[in-house]
Amino acid sequence: MQVPFHRPYITEDEINAVADSMRKGWLTMGEKTHDFEKRFREYVGSAHAVAVNSGTAAMHLALHCIGLKPGDEVIIPAMTFTATAEVIRYFNAVPMLADIDPDTHLISTAEIEKKITAKTRAIMPVHYAGQPADMGPILETARARGLHVIEDAAHSLPATYRGKQVGTIGDITCFSFYATKTVCTGEGGMAVTGNSAWADMMRTLRLHGISKDAWNRYSASGTWVYDVEYAGYKYNTTDLNAAMGIEQLKKIGHMQAMREKIAEKYNSAFKDYEELILYRVMDDRTTSWHLYPLKLNTEMLSCTRDEFIESLKEQGVGTSVHFIPLYRFTYYRGLGYSADDYPRSEWVFARSLSLPIFPGMTEEESDHVIECVTGLVKKNRR
Ligand SMILES: *Cc1c(COP(=O)(O)O)cnc(C)c1O
Repeated sequence: MQVPFHRPYITEDEINAVADSMRKGWLTMGEKTHDFEKRFREYVGSAHAVAVNSGTAAMHLALHCIGLKPGDEVIIPAMTFTATAEVIRYFNAVPMLADIDPDTHLISTAEIEKKITAKTRAIMPVHYAGQPADMGPILETARARGLHVIEDAAHSLPATYRGKQVGTIGDITCFSFYATKTVCTGEGGMAVTGNSAWADMMRTLRLHGISKDAWNRYSASGTWVYDVEYAGYKYNTTDLNAAMGIEQLKKIGHMQAMREKIAEKYNSAFKDYEELILYRVMDDRTTSWHLYPLKLNTEMLSCTRDEFIESLKEQGVGTSVHFIPLYRFTYYRGLGYSADDYPRSEWVFARSLSLPIFPGMTEEESDHVIECVTGLVKKNRR
């Protein structure tokens, strides 16, 4: 039996919605994008939502809003996707990598404190696997020092921190609708904020710095006149993507419930194995379960994490590792980061893998994953 790491949950609803856009003939950003933004900000409870063509673009525009300058520093976790750091490099600014908490894989508040200097401008926590970072202390630290908080929320739709929905907590929150994310539009992203000046700026920057949206220019009431306020970007989304997003958002509760059920099933199947270390979700938070991270207690096993992954693959189970810490890559090593400074990221990296979890996963599929994982543990017990 083959269980893929991910399978998108696309129904006739999404297919019909995209076909409808094609029949209407409005392909780029237009009414459906605006409708998607409206539904999105209502769903998360934020004042403004700006749709763009990726989560990375959302983070790039967010850093524009805070006026990031060359040489400025932004604190991020060492264990994240390269997108979190690359957007800082776009400004010739410096990603300051902070070590993580080994239970939650979230940026450690104590490590953030150690990375703050006179050049620090912002903190960009990553809500790993869907679980929000410890936003209370992070915001307190930021407010005390006049720093901005931009959230990499690519994994965390929907999730809550102390009862508050992610998207209503930091200064700007950036979501991703990449193919594997909890709400997907193929490619896409959304920046949400309570700051209307920043929202306006992002709306302008996402389409060449043009002050009026093209859909307005080309609609019956629009005109050919426009102004250019910045050297902007080509970061707008399209109505084809937005049409998918609207349908996905309508069933987010159902999709979330399916993920939760799988996570609970895995947790109860693995909890009695000392060789497995379950991912910890803190009591004051809920997670989207974008990922199901699992760690191997390698001291109790005769195989390595890599061999474990390979054996799962041979039995048809797709897995992944989130993430290879940034300092391990050629580019970031070139900036001077070294594994020696991140013992907890190294510890997590050596032990972790992500198991398949997606809406629409069948009972047979999750049973197969459990059988393979527990079977390998029994076979490789020391
Ligand atoms: C997916 C992801 C992103 C980037 O999202 P895109 O929409 O692919 O640009 C950023 N950060 C993290 C942690 C991600 O997993």
